Amino acid sequence: MDCKSLLPALCLSLCISVNYNAFAQQPFLTEQQWDALRDEANGAAPFENLRALTGLHRVPATPQFDQAADFMLRQAKAYGLEDAHAEQFPIDGKIHYGLMRSHFAWNVESARLWENEPQHVLIGDWSTDPIRLADYSHGADVVAPLVDVGSGMTEADYAGKDVNGKIVLADGVLSIVQSLAVMKFGAAGIVSDMPNQTTAWSGLNPDVIRWGHLDALLPRGFAFMVSRATAAGLRAQMADGHAVTLDAHVQAEVGPGHWTVVSATIQGTLAATDPRYGEIVFSCHLDHERPGANDNGSGCVTILESARLLNRLITAGRMPRPARTLRFIWGPEVEGTMAYLSRHPDIRRSLRADVHMDMVGGDLFKNKSVLHVTETPWSLPSFVTDVGMAFAEDIRRAAAAYAEDGSHVLEAVIENRDGAPGTRNEFFVDETPYSEGSDHDDYDSSTIAVPSLYLRDWPDIYIHTDHDSLEQIDATKLRRVALLGAASGYALATMNGSNDARLLAFFAARAQQRLARGFERAQELAQDAKDGRQGWYEAHNLLAQQLRRETAAVQSYAAFAGSDARAAAPAVKALQTQSATFDQWIDGLAAQRGVSGFKGAPSWRGIPIAMRVPKRVNGSGNSEFGPLTYQNDDVLLDRLGAERFAKIALFDADSNRLIKTQNSGSLYAYEIVNFIDGKRNVGAIRDAVAAELGPIPLETVSDYLDACAQAKIITW
Ligand SMILES: [Zn+2]
Repeated sequence: MDCKSLLPALCLSLCISVNYNAFAQQPFLTEQQWDALRDEANGAAPFENLRALTGLHRVPATPQFDQAADFMLRQAKAYGLEDAHAEQFPIDGKIHYGLMRSHFAWNVESARLWENEPQHVLIGDWSTDPIRLADYSHGADVVAPLVDVGSGMTEADYAGKDVNGKIVLADGVLSIVQSLAVMKFGAAGIVSDMPNQTTAWSGLNPDVIRWGHLDALLPRGFAFMVSRATAAGLRAQMADGHAVTLDAHVQAEVGPGHWTVVSATIQGTLAATDPRYGEIVFSCHLDHERPGANDNGSGCVTILESARLLNRLITAGRMPRPARTLRFIWGPEVEGTMAYLSRHPDIRRSLRADVHMDMVGGDLFKNKSVLHVTETPWSLPSFVTDVGMAFAEDIRRAAAAYAEDGSHVLEAVIENRDGAPGTRNEFFVDETPYSEGSDHDDYDSSTIAVPSLYLRDWPDIYIHTDHDSLEQIDATKLRRVALLGAASGYALATMNGSNDARLLAFFAARAQQRLARGFERAQELAQDAKDGRQGWYEAHNLLAQQLRRETAAVQSYAAFAGSDARAAAPAVKALQTQSATFDQWIDGLAAQRGVSGFKGAPSWRGIPIAMRVPKRVNGSGNSEFGPLTYQNDDVLLDRLGAERFAKIALFDADSNRLIKTQNSGSLYAYEIVNFIDGKRNVGAIRDAVAAELGPIPLETVSDYLDACAQAKIITW
């Protein structure tokens, strides 16, 4: 605001009060608590911890992963966290943790790839650059010609080519190339320039090396990862008629071993005596190939920083100890989460909410990224997203003001104190719908049902490459997200219904905003209605499902905080009124086009396959929990075999378990299973996923559930 025309004294008080209110709108913590957390939050400490992690090639179940786990354990102890310890979980490709089958360990002594002819060039050496050897490569000593097989993912790629005993050059999905080139056609190994994540910037830097991994359950083969430039050079030599001879040496073993998970706590005052209070878990994943700075060294060091600053303020008596325990877990992605929750069913049942960080430290300008506060899936409506978003918005507003004129350096949470290397960047943060691909998939799934506040940078042009290094990390960003995590975790750990009037109004406002955005989508569906009826049905269905979701989100707070259920009633009433108005508008739009009478009669009513009600088998037990998708193996693939799995209509025939996370079929599958509650029939489940993810045929949902029944995941 422009204060020039005001008296100086008035200007000062007006500016301060306006500016203060602009940056501190979150209703969860007192001003003193927020300031204490902010001032204690540090970006330089996690930055230095990240420097240690990025020196390690953190493939799960390897010696360097265990070194990383050991480092996290030492830091957790040094920061004074309670019960800091490491646990090992045996793995052998057969043991299951919940529904997830364990994997294999991998131990590499040495690996080198030389080009012998026509040039003599070292292409890759494990000892200096381990990313150049694909994970789960088997031992080999071979001098052999190189054969270009294109993508190497179809049999046609091998037509007329003898690859037996040779090394193939391929850019297809590594595990598929392995199954064809090595297992079927007898190749010794693979040189790969497979692009394992694609963004708009992919390919612009031809020198980037992406990591890859073979299928650990296949008994043979090795692969070296090369840049696009190196692969192009090899292809050019072969195109010029030169025979390219490679000399590959790999000394490595794939076999049984263990996963390591480190955990620590800040004990709550009531968690032990009153099970209703339970725990708040902070999760991340400690793996990925060196350097793996943003994915996901950043999440590991940032939850550790949240732990450090909370513990310091609590033990110093500067903030009251919360009622709920805060638990921090560092393990291999998904695998560690499933193993830990499987061994500790008591802890699993005590978890009330999750703060999950996977890629949170990237310099948003360098990585072409936005920090997303990711909503829980519609199968698990929750207020936790709103908690995180409120803190994120306060930081964002202050960071914008700072970027504009250099004011509000404290509120903007810049990490340049004492020469620390953080940027002065704005804080690009938004709220996005549920997105899959990390441990939150486990927490949010229906048999675990711990709502996740999931924080992630996306996209990231350096993800899964040798360029995901400390150079792309911003200490200011680390400090901001550590603060965001600590504030959210502390708010969740202390909520007890004492601030209901304020918080319910806040959550109701958020729910109404989302409902209004749903109305915009409903109008699009209605306008798209070609047959005059189905589109209108989808529009009404969307409004009904969104009302259910937003109502449950508001009520989830009341249940969490233990407040009087009636306290949420006015908020629910407001949502119902708003939704009814939207329904009328949709009816009006339909009437204009001469359509009526479609409401309240699902298009699937009376269709036999739609009326069946699926139930999870032993869904709350200790062996059958967890999602079916996003594991090492899709559970259905594991139980039904590849041939039956390939017939499931929901999955694209070309999909493969290593690229399937990019395939929306898996997201539908995840939610179809999550919506099973013993009450919804197939038609109701179709309507639920159709509203969340987009209209889908009833038959496709029914077909997927038939496969689940065949795999004994559900009964009818
Ligand atoms: Zn990750």
